[in-house]
Amino acid sequence: MAGGSGLELFEKYGAVRAGHFELRSGLHSDRYFQCALLMQRPQVMEEICGRLAEAVMERIVPEDRPQLVVSPAIGGIILGYELARIMGCRAVFLEKEGGRLVLRRAFEIREGERVLVAEDVITRGGRVRQTIAQVTARCARVVAVAVLVDRRGGDVTLDYPLVSVVRAVPKVWDAAQCPLCERGIPLEHPGS
Ligand SMILES: [Zn+2]
Repeated sequence: MAGGSGLELFEKYGAVRAGHFELRSGLHSDRYFQCALLMQRPQVMEEICGRLAEAVMERIVPEDRPQLVVSPAIGGIILGYELARIMGCRAVFLEKEGGRLVLRRAFEIREGERVLVAEDVITRGGRVRQTIAQVTARCARVVAVAVLVDRRGGDVTLDYPLVSVVRAVPKVWDAAQCPLCERGIPLEHPGS
């Protein structure tokens, strides 16, 4: 997907902010993607997810078409649901319990199911990897990962095809090395 047009969508709806932010991963950054500002607009999500679903199908063989979308809550729920609606399959989500992501509510990930993992933002990949682990632990098969924003550094790799709406140049720092902290700029915690 063309990164430019995806970023334009975020800008159009004020969903990318400049400042000094603590990300969910604990890293600091000068940019924050407030995906909820896109997700509050079903018509925008329909368009975005239509393009993401096409991008997924371009990256996998037709026989691998997903039967289930699995997302980590809360950020991935709306994205996963809309992707599943477009792809004609089910959507379930994982929830945090005791610091890890688990499947609740009698949701099922069945043995052998072809799974698309969906998440709002990937930075270090922790939540996506936990989600993949829950899928593979049930002998289901991850076929691809779809995210709204891919802000991985070069050292973060995944063993699955990844599609995104925006590929952001990551400007992230460990808190101890953050130049914005050094300049005394107040820190925002938009994800909490
Ligand atoms: Zn900082």
